[in-house]
Amino acid sequence: MVDHTAGNKTAANWRPDSWKDKPVSQQIKYGDNDALAQVTEKLCQLPPLVSTSEVDTLKARIAEAQAGERFIVQGGDCAESFSDCNADAISQKVRSLLSLSLLVSQKTRQPITRIGRIAGQYAKPRSELTETQGDTTLTSYRGDLVNHVHFTESARTPDPARMLEGYSYASLTLNYIRSLLEGDLEELFNLDEEVNSLKALAQHKELHQSLSNFRQAINLFHQFNGRQTAHKNLTEFYTSHEALHLHYEQALTRQASNGRWYNLSTHFPWVGMRTVRTDSAHLEYLRGIANPIAIKVGPTVAADNLIDLCQWLNPTNEPGKLTLTQRFGHQDIAKTLPEMIQAIQKADLKVLWSCDPMHGNTHVSNNGYKTRDFQHIQSELQQAFDIHKEYQSHLGAIHLEMTGQPVMECIGSRYSIHPQDLGKAYTSLVDPRLNLSQAFELIDSLFINQSQ
Ligand code: PEP
Ligand code: MN
Repeated sequence: MVDHTAGNKTAANWRPDSWKDKPVSQQIKYGDNDALAQVTEKLCQLPPLVSTSEVDTLKARIAEAQAGERFIVQGGDCAESFSDCNADAISQKVRSLLSLSLLVSQKTRQPITRIGRIAGQYAKPRSELTETQGDTTLTSYRGDLVNHVHFTESARTPDPARMLEGYSYASLTLNYIRSLLEGDLEELFNLDEEVNSLKALAQHKELHQSLSNFRQAINLFHQFNGRQTAHKNLTEFYTSHEALHLHYEQALTRQASNGRWYNLSTHFPWVGMRTVRTDSAHLEYLRGIANPIAIKVGPTVAADNLIDLCQWLNPTNEPGKLTLTQRFGHQDIAKTLPEMIQAIQKADLKVLWSCDPMHGNTHVSNNGYKTRDFQHIQSELQQAFDIHKEYQSHLGAIHLEMTGQPVMECIGSRYSIHPQDLGKAYTSLVDPRLNLSQAFELIDSLFINQSQ
């Protein structure tokens, strides 16, 4: 059912807090509601982190990607930690995503827009809301915005004051990202140190080679397009996070002079698979904001339900507004995706299709680590490109969990990480990420023919 009343202004019967009238899954339970109210009041008074014009520009970029004229690369940690708010970690994340996106643009032959899972990716949904070790059962770690990862009762007790900390760390991170992006291109695309630290994994010569090819390409781009255009094209960067903690998201939701409400804690909020439900609090919140938004689409969503969800979230079929981040798993994508593509085509809905080849391919190794097999990730991503092409649809984005650190969290790849390696360099707080060489190998291995 399409609600045509939404128009360009506020959606019908929507308020920044109308989500509270709906069932809230993955709810965070605080012991002290007064403390929660004080924190959210304080957050409401603090300045926004991003601007409405940046958000509008990103929406226009996503509309171009929908139309097949641009490609979006979204990536970063599963869960950012407050302790990662330091110069080295932030710079490494930004430089990795920039360099990877250059490889993607060589593959797709399209201009790229980059979106980090960064500057606010602090709240996590969990399949199990409690965790047991020995005789002790505690609240699961729900991201640094909510509680601390240590397995003690006090660390795991949700503390609303962490939202203020999260806001500050997001703000400091964003501030540093903005200054980095103004900096020297050579430095921004210099990953020598990261590549050298991967030496231990296996032959890294090829990686070095691709990086020096990149630098040559950047220099050429520079010469032909002039410094300013080159800089702008190569470094345009936006932030995203899962809009899970609705008290936090609501507090950073502001009405602009054009009358529309924007979530100004990030450019691109998404709602995760566990909270994508008809009539859920999370979708109620999303439908009223002017930002471009994404929903994760996995095995829990049926094709006809997807159409209702899209019309509910984007009743005017506004270009650039809605991204569907598909995450089925390598074994199920071919069974599920064609039907969804056809349903979207039949209803003539404007969506950007993005492939997250990570979250449908997670399993626990025999030695107890949450991991993903590189081959499965690669297979799902390649199938995604192929299926969209076969059905005259268009895959315009990828969404990866990745890091510039030399971690060993996903198994497989040319660098042969085995399950027994998983304990050696596993630092993710929640889900396993691709390291830089795996992320490069993944993109390099793809056969992409974007011309339709
Ligand atoms: C995530 O992106 O970290 C996540 C939890 O994904 P999903 O909602 O797809 O499971
Ligand atoms: Mn994750």
